[in-house]
Amino acid sequence: MLRGIFDSHCHYDDEAFDPDREEVLGELFSEKSPVCALLHACTDEKSALYGIGQAAKYKNYYTSIGFHPEACDRLPADPIAVLEELLPRSEKIVAVGEVGLDYHYEGYDRELQLRLLRDQILFAKAHDLPLIFHCRDATQDFLDLLHETRPRGVVHCYSGAPEVAREIVEMGLYVGFTGLLTFKNAKKVKRSFAEVPLERILLETDCPYMAPEPFRGRRCRSDLIEYTARCGAEIKGIDPQELIDAARENILRLFGIDKI
Ligand SMILES: [Zn+2]
Repeated sequence: MLRGIFDSHCHYDDEAFDPDREEVLGELFSEKSPVCALLHACTDEKSALYGIGQAAKYKNYYTSIGFHPEACDRLPADPIAVLEELLPRSEKIVAVGEVGLDYHYEGYDRELQLRLLRDQILFAKAHDLPLIFHCRDATQDFLDLLHETRPRGVVHCYSGAPEVAREIVEMGLYVGFTGLLTFKNAKKVKRSFAEVPLERILLETDCPYMAPEPFRGRRCRSDLIEYTARCGAEIKGIDPQELIDAARENILRLFGIDKI
């Protein structure tokens, strides 16, 4: 059985977990679970309070603070002032995220997204924190901003081309892979996974979304990373446990977590 899975990107505050949230977390943090730690990916102020609360309750539950681009329609008057106020509330806030650009849906103001992302990158740099990046259908604007601001962090749920993955790695960033890697039509993601060196790969779920095969379309949870790891290990020609261990060490290094 595989051990030591650190899920670097999860959303247990999602309503999909309303019926049995604490039961699921209890199972994930139990003795016999393959999962050893979780990092909450924050989306807005309410989500930040959830993460801070769970970090206080569970030993190996870490959290981020930040405003997702989809939160652009419900931003406080001064988002950065809110982050400044939240940061001292927990020593287990290890990242600013998830932040980024999402041009998939019309209607999200792109100028506002760009300004919010830039401000949050500057906030993270001022506090020497890494970032968790979300980028959807906005690759060029995203890369331009990364080149300009040179932050530390991870590009999560990577679904792009190998060339872009290489560019991201060359900037010193990490690349996060979800259950998307296991999808039968995800040839490009598999090629990108092959391209990223082992010491830059993070494993994650993005749960409740992105459940790996053979659970595609169902509610995802952190122990399903096992399936993503088995798929990734086959691509790299290594043992699944070796991939899980390498990804966990990368997560600890990036987010400055000493021990779990
Ligand atoms: Zn997410």
